[in-house]
Amino acid sequence: MKAIVVNPKKKDSVRLQEIEKPIPKDSQALLKVIEVGIDGTDIEINDGLYGEPPEGSDYLVVGHECLGVVEEIRGHSDIARGDLVVPTVRRPDDCVNCRSGESDMCLTGGYKEHGIRGLHGFAAEYGVSDSAFLVKVSDKLKRVATLVEPMSIAEKAVLQAYKIQERLLWRPKRVLVLGAGPLGLLTVFLLRLKGLDVIAVATRSKESFKAKIVERVGGAYVNAKEQPINSLGKFDLILEETGSPKVAMEAQKLLNPNGVMCFLGIYESQEARQDVGSLYTDLVLGNKVFFGSVNANKRYFEEGLKDFEEIEKRFPNALKDMITNTVSPTDYIKAFKPGPEEIKTVIDFRNVS
Ligand code: BGC
Ligand code: ZN
Repeated sequence: MKAIVVNPKKKDSVRLQEIEKPIPKDSQALLKVIEVGIDGTDIEINDGLYGEPPEGSDYLVVGHECLGVVEEIRGHSDIARGDLVVPTVRRPDDCVNCRSGESDMCLTGGYKEHGIRGLHGFAAEYGVSDSAFLVKVSDKLKRVATLVEPMSIAEKAVLQAYKIQERLLWRPKRVLVLGAGPLGLLTVFLLRLKGLDVIAVATRSKESFKAKIVERVGGAYVNAKEQPINSLGKFDLILEETGSPKVAMEAQKLLNPNGVMCFLGIYESQEARQDVGSLYTDLVLGNKVFFGSVNANKRYFEEGLKDFEEIEKRFPNALKDMITNTVSPTDYIKAFKPGPEEIKTVIDFRNVS
């Protein structure tokens, strides 16, 4: 079968290659892949920054945002052959969190991740996943279901923020989302469902397609090149999704008393010239919380799908319009080197020639 593979830690090694069709083990399912979304993580893996092949393999099949059809299912599961499914990304080790279904909160770092770390991904004609980590998708969400993986990341971040804020009486109103890539946009949709005032900041113009999508769901879009973020006022919740330490440092000053800020990027290392003393004092005197969030377990995928139904009703086509390019596997490079106006590029594996 055809698969999109890389040699992890080697720059620009991505290619379409013929590999053997995987055989599911006793507790696994074989998926016929429909579509795979490509994101910043896949691109960073192809940049050689990280990634780990499965044991015994020198390549890694990429792709962790997958929609597939179950072709064969083994092990105990409420999923049947022919079902439309999205596999979650992370697979547990045997720490207590992993064993209780929260591998996104793994204690040891011994987890694996499809398409990222120690397990092949799904950018191929077929993929295998443990049967217990498949999320069933209804037909009506088929055209947007590859987006539920990034949505699960947004669901976790927002839910964790609300959980943390159970420490006090919290009535959030204004939210700042830094970055308006797929994750940023999905976060905006989710916060709009909650009725919050959302400002999304990125570096594309106000006429860009992503700016229009933000406005369509009732959010406000700011081009950071035209308007400095320190002119935007204060926020109860800030979600940092740019991965830029500079942006994060600027933004942390915009948190209201009792506010919470969530970091979701992978930040390049950078010496800070920030006055750390004042930062800590501000944290103390404002009862503020900074936290990080990575990955998402199955229940966040399920929440994401529920919210997708609501988003489809309230903001028709907003999800679908985020998928700005669908390419065939032979055109994989378009997904790895997207044009500046692309939001999400999806690879369609239905017709592999
Ligand atoms: C995925 C997460 C994963 C993270 C780090 C992200 O792109 O959405 O599930 O944990 O990369 O590997
Ligand atoms: Zn663990």
